[in-house]
Amino acid sequence: MSKEQDIESRRRFLKVAAGTTAAAVVFGGLPRFARAADLPPVSESDPTAKALGYVEDASKTANAKYKAGDDCANCQFYSGGATGRGPCQLFPGKSVNAKGWCVSHTPKKA
Ligand code: SF4
Repeated sequence: MSKEQDIESRRRFLKVAAGTTAAAVVFGGLPRFARAADLPPVSESDPTAKALGYVEDASKTANAKYKAGDDCANCQFYSGGATGRGPCQLFPGKSVNAKGWCVSHTPKKA
């Protein structure tokens, strides 16, 4: 089975098995068993991080788009735990801080 076919069949399986949350992990391009702790932390000076105004501590941002209470932990692009670090779909292969924030913050769907 080619890698593409494998990814496609896995994507179909995950959509059926667990709905959009699991599919989102696949879209993030993460290896099946990647653990958040294994991902290197994204740097605030990373070009993508700069473009998105990413900060490690949401309370430190001066960005006008920031709304009190928003952080990576309650963003739909984040798939880690409530504390520590976890993967974000916008930073493939890197981890973001649960307490971090960027301009692409989108509240998690209930
Ligand atoms: S998209 Fe969401 S999870 Fe990713 S860095 Fe921005 S606020 Fe954090």
